[in-house]
Amino acid sequence: MTIDAEIGVACLVCGAICGTPAYRHDGAASVSSTGRAVALPTVVYVCRRCGHVQTPPLDDISGYYANAYDVHLESDDADDLYAVRDGVAVYRAQHQANVALAKLSLAAGASVLDYGCGKGMTIRALLAARPDVNAAVFDVSDVYRDAWNTSIPTENQAAYATPAKWDGRFDAVLSFFALEHAGDPHGFLAGIRRLMRPGGALHLTVPNVRRNVGDFIVVDHVNHFMPTSLRRVLAEAGFVDVRIDEEAHDAAYVVNARRGVGDRVAGPAESEVASYVEEAVGYAAFWSTATEAVQEFENEHRGRPAAIYGSGFYGVFIASRLTDHSNLAYFLDRSLHQQAKRVHGLPVLPPETLGDEVDVVYVGLNPARARAIVAGVESLQRRPREFFYL
Ligand SMILES: [Zn+2]
Repeated sequence: MTIDAEIGVACLVCGAICGTPAYRHDGAASVSSTGRAVALPTVVYVCRRCGHVQTPPLDDISGYYANAYDVHLESDDADDLYAVRDGVAVYRAQHQANVALAKLSLAAGASVLDYGCGKGMTIRALLAARPDVNAAVFDVSDVYRDAWNTSIPTENQAAYATPAKWDGRFDAVLSFFALEHAGDPHGFLAGIRRLMRPGGALHLTVPNVRRNVGDFIVVDHVNHFMPTSLRRVLAEAGFVDVRIDEEAHDAAYVVNARRGVGDRVAGPAESEVASYVEEAVGYAAFWSTATEAVQEFENEHRGRPAAIYGSGFYGVFIASRLTDHSNLAYFLDRSLHQQAKRVHGLPVLPPETLGDEVDVVYVGLNPARARAIVAGVESLQRRPREFFYL
């Protein structure tokens, strides 16, 4: 990303100059995609030409973690809890595999690459359902080799760069939650397109800030796509038949497209952009007032035993904005994965263990679903409590 104090920041999708940030937070901490507090300001730009939302890239986020005690390897968090359905936990990797299989209608023996696969948990879930698939994995690092070795033959593994012999090979390329980190989204998509056979299928997920407003201020996501900027970058990278599904994953765009042949197709008209720009500016306003809202509620309930429900992004955001942690007892979270952690130096407990002494609960969940989730948690409803919602 080009940053020039005189000119401003160039949009990573269309190259327009973005002007002053739509959102800027210099105090306290920023929050990363893995729910860690990071001692850096958050700066977010909105492009008025294509609707793209972007955050300047961090060179080495590991150097900035404010609370280093919970640092461990979990680059894709594919074992995050996605949903609890009829009392059964559905983890993200399983959900992603289910959606990919439903969207792709893969032929028997199809060659499928997971590009930016992390530990490879999604491709493993996909293979469990479709053992006939010829699966391959790629990531920019080789720290996941041991995990890959459990389900992928060595000749179908690539780290750092893909081998030349993979060009034009794949019937389908999958990419889950990687494009948001790409400082060069055109280059990222061109790299994927090169690996696909002509007419091959792309299946990609990327965070949807419209469904999950927290993504707007996730400090290590360079790209926060709006539908117009997503369509534009895909068209410019040579993809056709682009379909964007905003329902199949509750916090992400699910994109399906094909590798086009010949001329690039035009992206969306600029006239479509204005309403998305307005939406994005609204998210900036939401987050600008969120810090004040947390602290106002804290002042009104000072000294009362409190807990935070939700230990992911939103819970960490609230914890990072509270000025006094002495009455904060613990986090509550339904995810077993989260219960194994300490967050902000506090334990993460199953919701059923909520003690009667806690009478203030900060709800650290996606605001779009927070009230519905809280209504369904028996222990929160056992007695009257004061709830804070973002
Ligand atoms: Zn733009």
